[in-house]
Amino acid sequence: MAAPHDESRIKQFARTFLLVELLRGLRLTGRNLFRRKVTIQYPEETAPQSPRFRGLHALRRYPNGEERCIACKLCEAVCPALAITIESEEREDGTRRTTRYDIDLFKCIYCGFCEESCPVDSIVETRIFEYHMEDRSERVINKQRLLEIGDQYEAQLARDRQQDAPYR
Ligand code: SF4
Ligand code: SF4
Repeated sequence: MAAPHDESRIKQFARTFLLVELLRGLRLTGRNLFRRKVTIQYPEETAPQSPRFRGLHALRRYPNGEERCIACKLCEAVCPALAITIESEEREDGTRRTTRYDIDLFKCIYCGFCEESCPVDSIVETRIFEYHMEDRSERVINKQRLLEIGDQYEAQLARDRQQDAPYR
């Protein structure tokens, strides 16, 4: 009578000889061969994005070109990562505007709190997610750059906010 140890070795040999593992693998491949593919050929193809996507920040203007931001600093106060730095002063017409608006992109966790807290829809997060820095100093994005991004993507930003209005 064969010992249990010998029996398992015989079984293992038979499985190897009959290519059982290989056939199992092929069965799995065959089952998925004609299913709808879930992978995409990035960057040629991209997955659909939600209008609530939280990417790179931007500062928006009103249609007449005036900055929306009124320097209330709510976004700076609410930011859990302390990523926003604002300095402000009163203008001649009595309104308050920022003189400095920096966001440290290394600190930011893209939580969207700044966007949600803003009473005038000024600081927003765009759909931009493909960006990089070549120097550590570039991690801080300043007011001028934020306004430029806002100007460049205003049409998309306005559309997204309109589409998303029922949830705001
Ligand atoms: S997305 Fe969140 S972490 Fe980033 S700046 Fe806004 S509040 Fe701060
Ligand atoms: S971006 Fe909005 S929340 Fe932040 S300081 Fe300006 S107005 Fe206030």
